[in-house]
Amino acid sequence: AKAAGRNTLRFFDPQMQAAVAARVQLEGDIRTGLAGAQFELYYQPKMADGRIQGAEALLRWRHPERGFIPPAQFIPLAEDTGLILQLGDWVLHAACTQLAAWSGDPLLGELVVAVNVSPRQFRESGFVAQVLHALASTGAQAHRLRLELTEGMLLQDVEGTIAKMVQLRGYGVGFSLDDFGTGYSSLAYLKRLPLHELKIDQSFVRDVLTDPNDAAIARTIIALGSSMGLQVVAEGVETEAQRAFLERHGCRVWQGYLLAPALPREQFEALVARRAAS
Ligand code: C2E
Ligand code: CA
Ligand code: CA
Ligand code: CA
Repeated sequence: AKAAGRNTLRFFDPQMQAAVAARVQLEGDIRTGLAGAQFELYYQPKMADGRIQGAEALLRWRHPERGFIPPAQFIPLAEDTGLILQLGDWVLHAACTQLAAWSGDPLLGELVVAVNVSPRQFRESGFVAQVLHALASTGAQAHRLRLELTEGMLLQDVEGTIAKMVQLRGYGVGFSLDDFGTGYSSLAYLKRLPLHELKIDQSFVRDVLTDPNDAAIARTIIALGSSMGLQVVAEGVETEAQRAFLERHGCRVWQGYLLAPALPREQFEALVARRAAS
């Protein structure tokens, strides 16, 4: 076995070996980060008719040596290794802790907080229990929590997916279909999901004013969602012209740099207070 191990290693080229070492390092760093409170949730406001209706919680990692690491650089690895289960659990607890802290506040207590759920996390048999535990242990109200799912993750086990969603819906938890239009949902299937919300992917919003195809897709998603009684949210809105176009076509809810990026809690709270006063 030892000899075979040596032989196997010989086929590793140095570049590959470096990549593997980097992955192992990153994996260890995520564990250390979880233990050492290096992760934080930022909050991006979601606007509805000129009011802040809620926020999307987005994960941020402040690595002690490497500085700020964006989620796109560690979430895929966390998915591969299964660490996303611990990370996802941390996110749920952090968001519910925040909801509980805000509850009772005349402004912040009215907000709905959306949390991104990764495919692997959602597919775990204990997912429903995990969410219920986060709510119960923090005292957060279920109807203030919204879970953002992506299309791909729902298709693998349609009946199981619907069962989990229906169960959580029964407690008041809401669901949002993220990055809508980039996956492969069939409309027949969409109709069966107990959703509150569809999010138009930012790839369609970006060129909505210049690319007729993107404009057509955005309008179609708005019409589809509205006719199914869903809230339709545009993400990645960066300009007033994009916002106006979307509103003209019936989409009143949006997120994007036009108002604010994801903000640290204190800055988010200050923005909510400022908008309410103006
Ligand atoms: P997403 O869920 O589609 O989140 C939207 C991304 O767009 C966020 O990037 C957000 O900061 C960014 N964004 C918001 N407004 C604008 C805008 O006006 N223009 C542009 N160009 N971008 C905008 P972020 O925070 O880097 O997150 C990237 C992805 O990482 C998220 O995509 C989500 O899939 C994943 N992610 C983030 N936090 C979590 C988490 O807690 N759990 C899981 N499973 N995934 C997460
Ligand atoms: Ca999202
Ligand atoms: Ca999205
Ligand atoms: Ca995305």
